[in-house]
Amino acid sequence: MHSLSSTLSLVLPLTLFSALRGAKWTYDDGEHHWSKHYPYCGGAFQSPIDIRSELLRFDPTLRPIEVQNYNLPPNEQLTLGNNGHSLQVSLPARMFISSLRHRYAAAQLHFHWGSSGRPSGSEHMVNSKQYAAEMHVVHYNSDKYPNISSAVDKSDGLAVLGVLIEVGEFNPAYEQFLKFINGIKYKDQKVQVPAFNIRALLPTRLDEYYRYDGSLTTPPCYPSVLWTIFRNHVTISQKQFLALATAMYSSNSQDSAHLPLQSNFRGPQSVDSRIVLVSFKEDDLFWMNGLLVPVVVISALGFVLIASLICCILRQKRSTAEQNKSKNVAYNVGDRDEYGSRV
Ligand SMILES: [Zn+2]
Repeated sequence: MHSLSSTLSLVLPLTLFSALRGAKWTYDDGEHHWSKHYPYCGGAFQSPIDIRSELLRFDPTLRPIEVQNYNLPPNEQLTLGNNGHSLQVSLPARMFISSLRHRYAAAQLHFHWGSSGRPSGSEHMVNSKQYAAEMHVVHYNSDKYPNISSAVDKSDGLAVLGVLIEVGEFNPAYEQFLKFINGIKYKDQKVQVPAFNIRALLPTRLDEYYRYDGSLTTPPCYPSVLWTIFRNHVTISQKQFLALATAMYSSNSQDSAHLPLQSNFRGPQSVDSRIVLVSFKEDDLFWMNGLLVPVVVISALGFVLIASLICCILRQKRSTAEQNKSKNVAYNVGDRDEYGSRV
């Protein structure tokens, strides 16, 4: 964390300068140029990452995630918006995570997704598996900072809950905002929608997750995020995924060309010296931890050895039997030879 703070203080003036100039950024090829205007994007502790088995370390001190005031009443209004990079839902600061070292108040949630032709758009991967989409519920350290703007560039500023999304069963919780998506087709459009139970957007189990130190996955890429990626994914239907992947544009309604807002995910970043802590320890972690291959190889070698031994014993028995048989024949033939006829 010390190195994060010092890196932040060194590069911050440059980044603010870029931000003030209002540098535009895009996905696809564009992300490789982010660091020209946003130096943190080319720096350390970047997100997302591919969460591979060999990076994992079980941490028994990781408590289940606990969230408070997530069940919002429908008479309250939330702002659903298209910011040109994602679909975003504003969240009230009275929603918070209570199970971390500090209280982290909610600010917004947003999504990353693939395209109708390629439904692979999650940012985090698990053993190189990319999911259809990913939701980020962004919180800031409200014990130390008055708002998200002052927390966003601090090493202990943000905590983001990441939810991996697969195409499958229809999800009624996601429908609560997806049904209004046509009202935010163009960049900078916003609509007010009735609030709902945000907890229902998360997986049932909040005790199984991956934890690591990383960054914002969009410019200015500040390395200020304590990441929690839930182990269990949620599903949305094919129709719901297509609504997310095809309804919105990254351009304004007045623009002559309308660019579809799709494939808005950043590729996996260098892990460097980081490890990923895991809150769960189950049998399959043993297999995931790279022990599967050695165990299979040793078992296969053992099988080959036993099979060879059995073969050897059988062959030896057969050759002994054949030798005995030929001895008998020789004896009989010998009888004939000696006496000209059988005795
Ligand atoms: Zn995000």
